[in-house]
Amino acid sequence: MNAGPAQATCPRCGRVTGVRALPEVLAELGRQASQARRRPAANPPQRSPARRYGQDDYTLGDDQGDSGLPGQGLADIGAAVAAEVLRRTVGRALKKHYQERVAPQLQRREDELRRRQLERAQRYPDLRYCADDRVLFLTGYTRTLPLEQFLITDQPDAAVAGLRAP
Ligand SMILES: [Zn+2]
Repeated sequence: MNAGPAQATCPRCGRVTGVRALPEVLAELGRQASQARRRPAANPPQRSPARRYGQDDYTLGDDQGDSGLPGQGLADIGAAVAAEVLRRTVGRALKKHYQERVAPQLQRREDELRRRQLERAQRYPDLRYCADDRVLFLTGYTRTLPLEQFLITDQPDAAVAGLRAP
């Protein structure tokens, strides 16, 4: 039995309102994901809200000579500044590493996954998806399959064949 152009009724909720073709749904999910990904990049890079040096709050200001032990105070400040410089450098290096290596890698992996899911969905043009129930079904059959299950199974053929089971 073919799905045909007729409106597909979800066997679970009995409605047609949330029902769409699966590839269409996946393509839209992909678009939403890439939009969400672009949004944070539009914000300016984060700056640390205050100058904080380790556990203690050292403020580099005009009052640093008031401690009575200016030499000691300067040494502490020197150490604190060195620690801060190190922290910022490491932080930048990690951030750079993340932006240049980790993020694109994750992005590529995600894109690849989405592409494969879309390809998988396109192999079964008769599949319909009910957004209200997050299940897949075939028009005219009563069985349903959770979308996630279809996307992760190693045997999509069997999963889809199961939808035709009486
Ligand atoms: Zn439904």
